[in-house]
Amino acid sequence: MPGRSECGARCLAEGRRERDYTEAEASIMAPAPACACFRFYAELNDHLPPRLQYGMVEKQFIVPASVKDMIESLGVPHTEVDLVLVNGESSDFSRLVRNGDRVAVYPVFESIDITPVLRLRPQPLREPKFVLDVHLGRLAGYLRMLGFDTVYANRASDLELVRISAEERRILLTRDRGVLKHSAVTHGYWLRETDSCRQAEEVVRRFDLARSLRPLTRCMVCNEPLRETSKAEVGGRVPQGILAWCNEFRECAGCGRVYWEGSHPRRMRRWIEQLAATAPAL
Ligand SMILES: [Zn+2]
Repeated sequence: MPGRSECGARCLAEGRRERDYTEAEASIMAPAPACACFRFYAELNDHLPPRLQYGMVEKQFIVPASVKDMIESLGVPHTEVDLVLVNGESSDFSRLVRNGDRVAVYPVFESIDITPVLRLRPQPLREPKFVLDVHLGRLAGYLRMLGFDTVYANRASDLELVRISAEERRILLTRDRGVLKHSAVTHGYWLRETDSCRQAEEVVRRFDLARSLRPLTRCMVCNEPLRETSKAEVGGRVPQGILAWCNEFRECAGCGRVYWEGSHPRRMRRWIEQLAATAPAL
């Protein structure tokens, strides 16, 4: 009868007392680790060590864990993930991974069309707003210069950043993957670039914001929206040479700084024009 010998061996084993087992037998009878195969797509591979990138990643485990925990144990923050397929079916983060599962993990900003299947993320944020971790002060200035609502405080703790991101529905930008592993973070992005100007370009590209640039609408220092003001009101706060030719001024309601067409250096204005020109044709 098929399976008889296997059953017989197990029954025999169960009939013996524990101290009768040799070490070799015990090692044979220890629970074999289960194994699941993971495949990460596109830029999710940036989080994996080079030897695991763009291939099948085998993950062994004794105790089953959730999809979210397993993905993060391999180094990929869950906020970077938009879709998980387990054995070809859409799965949420809480599903337990079982022996033999094949798990395909897709990034948030993958361009392939995955709309027909369930996504893990809540709806995309309609108006992109950001909260930046404490090391990204220069990036905060650039994003505000481009007109994006950007919260930055150089003494905020990780927990504060996570709270602000969740409560104010802001995309958390960071170079620290650990921050993105907080389960409260639903919209986060790990910056690949290290230079702040390139980081701003990366954000515009990843979030498809080239059409949303609004230069001269937000204070670079305190993030307050700028309001229009008159030449008479800004007298004394703007160089005489500027007053001679410029008639339109904007003022920050927070700190009183005055901005005008050309208040950003020529190099920056050209950079903004080039960024706007990267918008794909409709
Ligand atoms: Zn200001």
